[in-house]
Amino acid sequence: MANKILTEEIQKRRIFGIISHPDAGKTTLTEKLLLHGGAIREAGAVKGRHNSKYSTSDWMEIEKQRGISVTSSVMQFEYSGKVISIMDTPGHNDFGEDTYRILTSVDSAVMVIDGAKGIEAQTKKLFKVCSMRGIPIFTFINKMDREAMDPLESMEELEEVLGLPSVAVTWPIGCGLNFQGIYDRLENTVYLYKAGKTIQLGENGVFGPELEEHLTINNLNSLRAEIELIEGAGNEFDVNAIAAGKLSPVFFGSALADFGVTPFLNHFLQLSPAPGPRKTTDGSIKPEEEEFSGFIFKIQANMNPAHRDRIAFLRICSGTFERGMTVTLTRTGKSIKLSQSTQLMANERETIDTAYAGDVIGIYDTGTYQIGDTLTTKKDLFYFEPLPTFPPELFARVTPTNSLKAKHFQKGVAQLAQEGAIQVYHNQYNEVIIGAVGALQFEVFEYRLKNEYNSDLLMEHLDFNVVRWLDTSDLAYVKSCLDSRCMLLFDHFERPLVLFANQFTLNYFTERYKDIQLVEALNVNS
Ligand code: GDP
Repeated sequence: MANKILTEEIQKRRIFGIISHPDAGKTTLTEKLLLHGGAIREAGAVKGRHNSKYSTSDWMEIEKQRGISVTSSVMQFEYSGKVISIMDTPGHNDFGEDTYRILTSVDSAVMVIDGAKGIEAQTKKLFKVCSMRGIPIFTFINKMDREAMDPLESMEELEEVLGLPSVAVTWPIGCGLNFQGIYDRLENTVYLYKAGKTIQLGENGVFGPELEEHLTINNLNSLRAEIELIEGAGNEFDVNAIAAGKLSPVFFGSALADFGVTPFLNHFLQLSPAPGPRKTTDGSIKPEEEEFSGFIFKIQANMNPAHRDRIAFLRICSGTFERGMTVTLTRTGKSIKLSQSTQLMANERETIDTAYAGDVIGIYDTGTYQIGDTLTTKKDLFYFEPLPTFPPELFARVTPTNSLKAKHFQKGVAQLAQEGAIQVYHNQYNEVIIGAVGALQFEVFEYRLKNEYNSDLLMEHLDFNVVRWLDTSDLAYVKSCLDSRCMLLFDHFERPLVLFANQFTLNYFTERYKDIQLVEALNVNS
């Protein structure tokens, strides 16, 4: 029989990722959500651009300098009987692999859109990763207190640009200086912006007389016309389609004014899924299973410069975590006692003793874990579905400027590679070549080597942007086929790979040397 406490705890849990183009208001919304849950008391706690005391993810100076969040953090809060974990993703054009991995470990996503700008490049990319996984995507159209696009146009854009049907759950009444509130279609309620009042409407909804004294005539007419239109021509509200990621519920509001956030949060908790089964190499595993299991989706070193520690982020997929429990690391078959565990809540860390499937916990790592690792108490070992790896597109040769500090350099490079911060290869002369998905990864790498490992380096960008692994042991033959537009390297498992200048060079090579098998990407666990 399934453990009753465990089942109840799982039903309470929600893990979601929050995505947006920079400046759309992701941090502000996150902050307001945390405030609702009482996880933090003061605004500014999330990123703390102006207030370093309350910042969580500004552990790196680079973030402060640029006012961007480079790394992703996890924050947990309780609200309305639910335990909610938010995975923040870097809101920068130049995000890296980290973001993708975060999005593979969440159960739903919230997409924040700037009401004036609509869908921007970054949102599109991140959205694609979410929709590939078929997870529900909730849309929050923000900054309605400013001039915004026509809400019908915003909805249309969602469908057109992202190809995702959407359904409005709340609807804005005016915008900018004329912003007067939102209409909650499911609750048949209007929330008035400035007056702070809530009006429960009668059976005629927005067509009843209740709103006449509160709204300007223009706003009331537009609201009625728009609601009539979306009720006639819009998508039907369909809970199953939402759960399957085929219909995005849309909300409007102002994160800054904390307006529209409560209805959003309440509906989100109703409509978003609790943790479900996850695929493994041994069939799928249900969260209610007694045996504990989870996987590591992120490793981060030196989060707190005062303590040189490394934390592995573990998503619990089944069972109950008890501090001090012994688990097996599938990759090595070794037993590990999990005695130091931490929960990440806004700017604080707390030691936790118990956690359930659907929680994310941090465990201290002394170099034991790799990204994608499976941990379990099951006797029959298995792996969770490997996390996708994304082939790097940018490459650089790096060398320490001070050869006396070569040891620091090597240690730093090895640690950052293990963390998954960057891909590291070497050539036949043992020179270090790094690979990244986004240029910011390079910057972060350089910064961290200098600040955390006291190692300055020379970085020489290389003119290659496609990588392929080789499926052959006849390296002498491969070498004879390479010219200056290709470069032979080895990854940290000594597996050979080739960098090509571009797609064209790669195509040429594959046409010419049909006998050489190339593989696009190798999984973390393979
Ligand atoms: P992020 O880059 O997506 O995390 O965006 P932030 O949350 O840092 O917000 C970017 C800027 O927009 C900040 O100056 C916020 O104060 C502002 N902002 C966020 N939400 C709103 C909103 O609802 N209305 C208005 N007027 N400004 C907002």
